[in-house]
Amino acid sequence: MRHLIMLLLVLASVDASAQEVICHRGYWDREGSAQNSIRSLVKADSIGAWGSEFDVWMTADGVLVVNHDETFEGITIETAKWKQLKNMRLKNGEPLPKLEQMLECGKGLKTRLIVEMKPHTNRSQERKAAEKIVKMVKKLGLEDRVEYITFSYQGMKDLKKYAPEGTPVYYLNGELSPSQLAELGMAGIDYNIGVMREHPEWIDEAHSLGMKVNVWTVNSDRDMDWCINYGVDFITTNAPEKLQLKLAP
Ligand code: MG
Repeated sequence: MRHLIMLLLVLASVDASAQEVICHRGYWDREGSAQNSIRSLVKADSIGAWGSEFDVWMTADGVLVVNHDETFEGITIETAKWKQLKNMRLKNGEPLPKLEQMLECGKGLKTRLIVEMKPHTNRSQERKAAEKIVKMVKKLGLEDRVEYITFSYQGMKDLKKYAPEGTPVYYLNGELSPSQLAELGMAGIDYNIGVMREHPEWIDEAHSLGMKVNVWTVNSDRDMDWCINYGVDFITTNAPEKLQLKLAP
C-alpha cells in the first residue's frame, strides 16, 4: 500500500511537470509590446512559453486579420474591406497584423501557435474564414505547430473538418462537457476559470477520455494555484513569467 502511494505521488509530480504556459494574446504586458502584436508573439517565444494565443477575424474581402475585438478603431472587421484597415497601427506602433504576417513570424520561433477564430456574425463568412485559416497554415508549413480554439460551435466543427486529421481543436464557450466534445472529435476543453471552478469534475472526465484541459485567463496566484493543483494541462495567462516561476521544479 505504501509503495502504491509513493508511486501515485511520483506519477502526480510527473503529471504536474507537464503543465504548460500559454500567453494570452501573446506576451503583451511589457514595454514595447501590445496585445495580438508580432512583438507579443516574439516576446512569448523569448521566455520559452509553450504556446502563444492570438485572435483572428476575416474582413468582407477575405483578408485574415489578427485582433481581439470585433472592431478596430471603430471599424467592424468582418464587414470592412482590408484597405480600410491596412494603415492602422497597434498601441506599440506596429501595423495591424494580418494572420499571414503572424504565421510568417511564428515560423522562425519555437512556441506553439494557438489560433483563435472569432465567431463571425455571418455564418458563411465564418466557414470561409475557417477554410482560409487552415489553408494559410498549410501554405506556410505550420500544420504541426498550430492548435485551434473558438467560441463558435459551428466554427469548431468547420476547423475540425478542414484541418488535417489529429490537429487539436478546442472549444471555448463552456457549456459542453468533455464527453459531448469527445463525440465531436475535439481535443479537449479550453474554458474560463469561473466555469472550471463550477465543474472541476470535467478535468478528470476529460483526462479519462484522453482529452486535454486548458483554462483561461489565469492571472491571480489563487487561480494559478487552483489550476496547478487540479492538474490542468495548459494554463492561459497574461502573467506568463509569474506562472513559469510557480511551475519551475
Ligand atoms: Mg483569444
